[in-house]
Amino acid sequence: MTVTAPSRTGARVERLPLARFTTLGVGGEAEVWFVSDHAQLTEAMEQPYRILGGGSNLVIADGGVLERVIRLSGPLAERDLDIDPELSTDDELITGWVGGGVPLPGLIRALQKLGLSNLEGTVGIPAQVGGAVWMNAGTRYGEMFDGLHTLEIATPEGLKVVTPGDLRWGYRDSGIPRNHIVTRVRLKLRRSTPEAVLEKMTLADTARKGQPKMKTPGCAFKNPGGMGAGRLIDEAGLKGTRVGNALIAPEHANFIVNLGGATAGDVHALLNLIRQRVGVPLELEYELWPAELEGSGHPHMVPQQGVQPE
Ligand SMILES: Cc1cc2nc3c(=O)[nH]c(=O)nc-3n(C[C@H](O)[C@H](O)[C@H](O)COP(=O)(O)OP(=O)(O)OC[C@H]3O[C@@H](n4cnc5c(N)ncnc54)[C@H](O)[C@@H]3O)c2cc1C
Repeated sequence: MTVTAPSRTGARVERLPLARFTTLGVGGEAEVWFVSDHAQLTEAMEQPYRILGGGSNLVIADGGVLERVIRLSGPLAERDLDIDPELSTDDELITGWVGGGVPLPGLIRALQKLGLSNLEGTVGIPAQVGGAVWMNAGTRYGEMFDGLHTLEIATPEGLKVVTPGDLRWGYRDSGIPRNHIVTRVRLKLRRSTPEAVLEKMTLADTARKGQPKMKTPGCAFKNPGGMGAGRLIDEAGLKGTRVGNALIAPEHANFIVNLGGATAGDVHALLNLIRQRVGVPLELEYELWPAELEGSGHPHMVPQQGVQPE
């Protein structure tokens, strides 16, 4: 862990393997900038960068990425759930600022204990608040934009404060351009009871029962034209197929899991195999870093071992 570049604003900068920041547990090294205030963030954004949240929707190359990788930390990863009386009404309770680097699962648990409703449908999504807002992550029981009042976004032109009404958001899309950084949000909540909120969380949790519990970046492919991607992969006979230490999950074929020590190359080989064998075009659900590696035969993406159907 070496400090690779001094930061004039005091940001912590370290060269680190990105695998430790992703739910798949895969990814090579990059220069990571831990920024805890707006001055540090502005400095970090002076050179080409990527913003990394909970790493729950990413497959990062074994060679890492060349750009700086920004992680929100300190106050930008803290939450103030006090209700702001000036902004709130009887029906709409508006919180203080919640940092983009706050882990979403802990936030959802805290809101449940307070009996505050609107975001419980996002239970089980292992994201950070900023990443979940950027994707408008959600389930059939609710999504992030159900509970947003104000968003603070760092852009190359400076810091902007907007409301959802200023954005063209929609299904799994906030309308916020790539690499604009969601630094903080104020939540818009309704008063409920801990029991009622928990009931809805349990419903959303139950819908996840068939999903694998191992390291994974979530669903691999979007469902094409109303067909289940998992079912198509299963029908192609690929459930349980293994490349290196990556496996198409026996529980649900639309999940690729890391058995321990998988490489991005292993995962990429499985993604390519699925695309070859399934008869319809499939669109990736998660992001590859760097994106240009997709299907390129880049050395980092070549599988180390042969395909082993189980
Ligand atoms: C087990 C599992 C279950 C999942 N279930 C669901 C589900 O039910 N519903 C669902 O929608 N998704 C689900 N996902 C996918 C994933 O959690 C979401 O896509 C989530 O929004 C990713 O957020 P993140 O913070 O992990 O972002 P990352 O994976 O770190 O990054 C994803 C993208 O968001 C950008 N980003 C990250 N932070 C910020 C920020 N602060 N500002 C701007 N951009 C940012 C990144 O640059 C990148 O482009 C699941 C994933 C897993 C592993």
